[in-house]
Amino acid sequence: MSENNNFKNQAKLGQYLNTAGIKVFSRALLRNRRLFVPHLSLKSIASLNFSLLHSKAALTYLVFDKDNTLTIPYEREIHPSILSAWEDCLKVYGKDNVAILSNSIGSKDDNDYKEALLIENQLGIKVIRHLNKKPNVKEDILNHFQIDEITAQKHLGVIGDRILSDTVMGNSHGFFTVNVEPFSTKPENAMVKMMREFEKQIIPIIASGEAPEHVVYERLRVDSMQLTDLINKA
Ligand SMILES: [Mg+2]
Repeated sequence: MSENNNFKNQAKLGQYLNTAGIKVFSRALLRNRRLFVPHLSLKSIASLNFSLLHSKAALTYLVFDKDNTLTIPYEREIHPSILSAWEDCLKVYGKDNVAILSNSIGSKDDNDYKEALLIENQLGIKVIRHLNKKPNVKEDILNHFQIDEITAQKHLGVIGDRILSDTVMGNSHGFFTVNVEPFSTKPENAMVKMMREFEKQIIPIIASGEAPEHVVYERLRVDSMQLTDLINKA
């Protein structure tokens, strides 16, 4: 318990200090506001058709954020509302083609990667180790999957609940991006809450146009499909 608390405190601190994030944000703001727009926006991954995402969109690698995308913040269990989608995802993709990338676990705030190891044991998939914070994580992603940048731009999707750290990160590297709504913002620390509020207020004002171009659109067109066909109908 105390070790977990200790980890929480370090993780909080790490989330405060991210100059790379500010740089990428300013660049997007000044040069390309489409970077704030995800290719898909969903309530949760429960709506995502992983079979079509793999076969038709040909996105064969997926990077998931952890907190409020797969689990309640700081918890280690997959949220019950997405459990069956998660199992489906692993069946379609195979565990090696899916990974977690979090700004807390697997980062340098995660002492000896203890929390990453716990998550890997519990969930059975890898947590990407990274020295820099999101969005400065392209090389860590490429190294993890042992793929080059072109392959990643054609075949890798990033799924997360935060526009600035997940969507802008993925879009600015040319990846496919999926935004989901958080499960619960209650456990989030004050800084994350503030950033989320900032996103909520500012993103609708500054985001402009469609999501960035992506080869997935062309692939779907071949089968007369659209992005919305990748969403399970309720
Ligand atoms: Mg998150």
